[in-house]
Amino acid sequence: MPIYEYQCRGCGHQFEYLVLPGSPAAACPSCQHEDLQQLISLCSVSSESTRQSHLNSARKKAGEVHREKQHEEHKLMHHDD
Ligand SMILES: [Zn+2]
Repeated sequence: MPIYEYQCRGCGHQFEYLVLPGSPAAACPSCQHEDLQQLISLCSVSSESTRQSHLNSARKKAGEVHREKQHEEHKLMHHDD
């Protein structure tokens, strides 16, 4: 479930808001303002880094396959057994 972090533009209060299906629009708990600025939530940061590490391991895998292929070509060029 996504938890969003907001800062109220009215009073500057920062709060987390858990968005549930059918929940009302987020409002500042201290002044009830709905003029909010959404801050970067911890959820989106962690999913971003997960995506990054998936990308890195995919790149690593591609590199391994490439090395394997070069090795095969090397064996084909040198038929000495
Ligand atoms: Zn407020």
